[in-house]
Amino acid sequence: MTVGRNPSSDLTTLTAAAAIDAMGRAEFTSAELFAAYRAAAVADPLNAYLWVADDAPEPPAEDAPLAGVPLAVKDLFCTEGVPSQAGSKILENYRPPYTASVVERLAAAGAPLLGKTNQDEFAMGSSNENSAFGPVLNPWDRGRVPGGSSGGSAAAVAAGSAPWALGTDTGGSIRQPAALCGIVGLKPTYGTVSRFGMIAFASSLDQAGPLTRDVTDAALLLKHMVGQDPRDCTSIGFPGEIGRPAARSLEGIRLGVPEELTGEGVGIDAGVLETFNATLKLAESLGATVRPCRLPHAQHALSAYYVLAPAEASSNLARYDGVRYGARVENGGLVGMYTKTRSQGFGTEVKRRIMLGTYSLSSGYYDAYYGRAQRVRTKIAEDFRAAFADFDFVVTPTSPTVAFELGAKTADPLSMYVNDYCTVPMSLAGIPAISIPNGLSEGLPTGFQLAGPAFSENAILDAAFALEQAIGFDGAGALERPEARAHQNAGPDAPRRTPK
Ligand code: GLN
Repeated sequence: MTVGRNPSSDLTTLTAAAAIDAMGRAEFTSAELFAAYRAAAVADPLNAYLWVADDAPEPPAEDAPLAGVPLAVKDLFCTEGVPSQAGSKILENYRPPYTASVVERLAAAGAPLLGKTNQDEFAMGSSNENSAFGPVLNPWDRGRVPGGSSGGSAAAVAAGSAPWALGTDTGGSIRQPAALCGIVGLKPTYGTVSRFGMIAFASSLDQAGPLTRDVTDAALLLKHMVGQDPRDCTSIGFPGEIGRPAARSLEGIRLGVPEELTGEGVGIDAGVLETFNATLKLAESLGATVRPCRLPHAQHALSAYYVLAPAEASSNLARYDGVRYGARVENGGLVGMYTKTRSQGFGTEVKRRIMLGTYSLSSGYYDAYYGRAQRVRTKIAEDFRAAFADFDFVVTPTSPTVAFELGAKTADPLSMYVNDYCTVPMSLAGIPAISIPNGLSEGLPTGFQLAGPAFSENAILDAAFALEQAIGFDGAGALERPEARAHQNAGPDAPRRTPK
């Protein structure tokens, strides 16, 4: 299977699974594939990469299942000797002495590191405009954002400069950029993929997952990501194996549509609702039943998330003190050095979250904010459990809008936070959810989200595969074309690789 307009022209139009098959038939070598992607990554016009590998990797082992298909990795995964900056100036040029477990696992399976991708600073954001290294541009329209915080990974996969990529999702950061770039993004069940070596944002929510051009590739990458890791005490592994999705029908599948996340008043764009409803009709034609379901507390998810995630972030980010690693700004004495290092090293959004988090954890307010948000989180998890008694999956649009223009929401944090209205509930509940491209609105991709109970990844992938085959989404709009090039540098900041 190929993605793109002119499948024969270029190795980079192949999905990872198709490339593995082609290498099995000796049509080209893994070194040729790596060289093709490396050239595309070096030439990337979207500011999607912060670092690209120089050296071709060792050839993969004869029986390596991923056969040498290279992998783009979000900047916040530690990679030994390679800049791992989490999109932040405070970690500029930080080269860790070790590699994240999941990156190691994938390399061992035959997916070598191609490059590190741009992201919102410490994964805080929905548009990639919070990166200290400049925004990433959306390959469908370079005047627009790719979504965030895994925007570099999403843009690279959509534009053909990476076959597949790793992202992380705390409240939507894999699913939302996947939707805005017209690719597949999967947030696994919390705990299935090790967080060891992932630079932390909110530890009880952060999950690594695949960003790929199709559902088959998502399954293939995830298969080699999951597993218990003694170096991460919240890691639980996956019961059984992730299989290759093959379902063609949705016979017997019950889809629940939560009024709370899709109804009037939620503010989902008309064009997004249109493709959502068309996909529901398609699901019915494949044999699914579609009925309304209730998630009574879901409308409070965003409020709870913006107490809990900043609280955890304020604690996790206390380690950047100019002493152990990263930037250090001397200012006469210890406290002066701490203050100056942190005030110069962190960007505005990160500072906002640290302030919010520190406030909600302070003794006088703990019960009113943090404690209450934790109770809301429990209610949301219970809502999903109750829904899954009657439904196989809960479905929503992934993002309320298509990709918006660069700069459109930067002055209004609340309008930015609303991007994750439909993705945050699943994060709080710790359950898996996938976004697949399901059409275009105003010429830009929309995403369809399917969420299931913990460890239902195989069922989700199967249902997503059946839908994907029926939808037949064409991702060619993200590939190089003159209309897109006309928008180059249309954003408030031209792409750049050095911190602002
Ligand atoms: N956009 C959300 C935030 O800014 C989610 C980010 C994420 O999932 N990492 O927190």
